[in-house]
Amino acid sequence: MITAGPTREYLDPVRFLSNPSSGKMGYALAEEAQKQGAKVMLISGPVGAYCHTPPPMRVIPVTSAQQMYRAVMQHAKQTDILIMAAAVSDYRPEKTSPHKVKKRPGPMTIRLVRTPDILAALGKMKRARAQHPPEADQPPAEAAPLLVGFAAETQNLIKNARDKLLKKNCDLVVANQVGKNHQGFASDQNQVFLLDRDKNITRSPLTSKRLIARFILRHIKKLLSKR
Ligand code: C5P
Repeated sequence: MITAGPTREYLDPVRFLSNPSSGKMGYALAEEAQKQGAKVMLISGPVGAYCHTPPPMRVIPVTSAQQMYRAVMQHAKQTDILIMAAAVSDYRPEKTSPHKVKKRPGPMTIRLVRTPDILAALGKMKRARAQHPPEADQPPAEAAPLLVGFAAETQNLIKNARDKLLKKNCDLVVANQVGKNHQGFASDQNQVFLLDRDKNITRSPLTSKRLIARFILRHIKKLLSKR
């Protein structure tokens, strides 16, 4: 299962909170994983027409973080690799107006509340499954899945990524520096650091998101072969 793209948190029917994620990294991962023989389910926030999914990939389109959370949790049980590449909004407006909010003189205050943290919820689920492993006659997909998170940071990249790896119980964190020219959000190129639980830090070259996807999948396969 792969999540991709941004989420949108609507204030009213015509305004939302979001971020510049294009979805390209998640879609590149989904396409490469399918090419390499995986059965892929892609849960995608709103992305542009440049993001394609070749059949037979199953795509579940969602808009908000809450919808993404529900879709992920509904299908996570049947999944053995979870790659959370979406740029999920951490906050949403507490209230969504059913009608367009009219402007008034002076400032406006919007109260924001937290959205569910999907990666953290999966980390908890993984811990629970590891503590109660399946019986020998149960399908292997019921075993603890491999969990991959992303960390987009503007500062202290490696430290923040390592904290995320441990706090959210991930097996791998893909860290990339955002705010630099020509890489990260919405760009066609990227450079990432892969951090795993054996304290390895592997740096990719600055290259296309397709090649970054292959780089990440190679590392995932290595981790799977060690299990
Ligand atoms: O902690 P932070 O939001 O920076 O972590 C980023 C990682 O967490 C990404 O893998 C992203 O897909 C995931 N995430 C999530 N649910 C949220 C926020 C982030 O799954 N509400």
